[in-house]
Amino acid sequence: MITVFFGPPGSGKGTQAAVVAERRGVPHVSTGEILRAEVAADTELGREAGPIMDAGHLVPDDLMVRIIEQRMAQQDARGGVILDGFPRTVPQAQALDAMLLRRGWTLDMVVALDVPEEMLQERVLNRAGEEGRADDSLAALEKRIRVYKDQTLPVLGYYQTREIAIVHVDGSGTIEQVASHIRETLARH
Ligand code: AMP
Repeated sequence: MITVFFGPPGSGKGTQAAVVAERRGVPHVSTGEILRAEVAADTELGREAGPIMDAGHLVPDDLMVRIIEQRMAQQDARGGVILDGFPRTVPQAQALDAMLLRRGWTLDMVVALDVPEEMLQERVLNRAGEEGRADDSLAALEKRIRVYKDQTLPVLGYYQTREIAIVHVDGSGTIEQVASHIRETLARH
């Protein structure tokens, strides 16, 4: 079973995806983290993706689909994964569907974290201070939010047409409050 965590930059999807993955004992697959590791290791992929990420743009779909195919082919992903940051475009969602169909897996639900825009900026700028991510600057964040609205939000519409369960969770509280909302919501489904 695959669960997708969905939300704008700064919505806390990475933090919350990690909590659920740990509870279920399945891998937390964050495409942003995979890419940052490639950048840190200075691989060919990292050198290609780094400048794109720093500018707040999306890494090309074909590259992302290849990364996800490789990750999902690993042994530890056999019992399912929590996806965080993928799919981020409709073509990625379509590629994921095709991949799941081939493997006989199902997408059980999309957890969408809703956070007001003013709060996203505050959270991301705080994270910039704590983690030093290059794409957490104000300029890159504005770009990332625009990219989210233009290219990523349509993924929800795509899943609506596919009749995949989308559960919206208020992501504006503390980490613990949001985690308990998610736990309750997932238990109800
Ligand atoms: P995240 O950690 O999810 O905020 O991702 C950080 C950055 O990595 C994004 O702003 C993109 O540049 C890149 N990235 C992560 N996941 C994807 C994806 N599925 N498609 C394209 N770019 C991605």
